[in-house]
This record gives sequence, C-alpha cells and structure tokens, in this order.
Amino acid sequence: MRARAVGAWGGAGLYDAPMPVNAGELYIVTYPAAVLRRKAAPVGGVTPEVREVAARMIDLMHRAEGVGLAAPQVGLSWRLFVAHVPENEERSTASSPPSATRVPVVFVNPVITALAGPSVGYDEGCLSIPEITGEVLRPEVATVRATDLAGQEFTFRASGLLARCLQHEIDHLDGVLILDRMSQTARLRNRAAIRDLERSGAAGGGR
Ligand code: ZN
Repeated sequence: MRARAVGAWGGAGLYDAPMPVNAGELYIVTYPAAVLRRKAAPVGGVTPEVREVAARMIDLMHRAEGVGLAAPQVGLSWRLFVAHVPENEERSTASSPPSATRVPVVFVNPVITALAGPSVGYDEGCLSIPEITGEVLRPEVATVRATDLAGQEFTFRASGLLARCLQHEIDHLDGVLILDRMSQTARLRNRAAIRDLERSGAAGGGR
C-alpha cells in the first residue's frame, strides 16, 4: 500500500469538485465511471461539507446493504471512506483485533500503516460493480491511520472481513478495483458481465 501523499496539504484546490457538494444528491456510481479509476486527492480539512458527505455515504451504504463505501464511488475524488461491518456469528467487535464495528466508522485521509498475517482468499463484491464477485487474496490483519470527523487522528487495527473492507476501500482511493485483484479464474468467469458493464457505460449510463 502507498504512503501518505506529500505536499498536498493545506493548500487551495485540494478537491476535484470545484463547487460545494450537495450531499443529498450524491448516489453510487458504477463501473466504468472514470472517477473510479482516478487517484483521489487528500481531504484538506474536516468541514461541515465533509461531514454531510460522510453522513450521506453511510446512508447510501446501508441502503445498498454494503459494508464499506469510498468517496470515488459517489463521484467524489476525495480520500475518504465509510465502513460498517456488523457483528454476526463469524465476526466480532470484541475480538483482538476486531473483525466487526458497532457503528459506522468514517476514515478521512486513511493510510495503511501495517499489513500482517497470511493472505486469505474471499469472494469479494463491490457496490460499484453490480453482479460481479471474485476471489481476492488479502492479508488477514490491517492497521490504518486516519482522521475522524472531529479532526482527530486515530489508528484502527482490524482482522477478517473488516480488515478486508479497509483494504478494499483504500484501493478505491487509488483507483484500484476488485477487477484488478481477482484471480484469473474469477476474471474469466465474469468476462461477459464485465463487458456488459463496459458497454452500458460507453453508451452513457455510467457516471
Ligand atoms: Zn468497492
């Protein structure tokens, strides 16, 4: 994973979006929207606008029954994502490190600081790539440093599906999709569906 971008902090023009964002109008964009392939820019500060966008993203994620959503997936090339991996029989907020979250968590300018454990395969999906899943190998444990909505830096260590989710969402901030990471077998199995998405996007359907 990449290190934090240097020299892009505190200046003007940090956002790709030149106008204030109307958070209520954001929706989930689908592949092959160009924004999904862009490297997102650091968020300059936790403003009311950023909080509104995060709240809207949490709402969209829940409605789509996802466990994570990154800003590029709502058309914003910002380094921000939200995650909410609820507990179930396989995942717990009490394990060390946790594999679930009690509430949605917002990560502003997240950076992976450590990856550990064996690479584990899991059939991953993405809210921006409907109908497609494929096995992706990822390390079992991830540590992320980020800023919260109060502007405070925090470190977050996770395992299992939660660790996978963090890695998946940070990939989005670098323009990386599961299509790039899935096994050759999965890519072949999904070939027709991927082509269909690319065609509908080319026809103007994919913002
Ligand atoms: Zn995704």
